[in-house]
Amino acid sequence: MISSELLERLRCPLDPKNARLELAASGDALICQPCRLVFPMREGIACLLPEEARLPEGCASLDELPCRKR
Ligand SMILES: [Zn+2]
Repeated sequence: MISSELLERLRCPLDPKNARLELAASGDALICQPCRLVFPMREGIACLLPEEARLPEGCASLDELPCRKR
């Protein structure tokens, strides 16, 4: 389980200055608040690589995400 303190400090790698992450309802992934990119967690460790993240529905590539456009 990820601590709330750690969650406070994590940011989306596409927009590390602004984009905060939240814990998915399932508890096994982190979701970028602005771009909805889903970062998987494995054994409690978040994998914050855009290439490994799951794109939100209706989004075809990382280039379409709001975090990427900033
Ligand atoms: Zn993002």
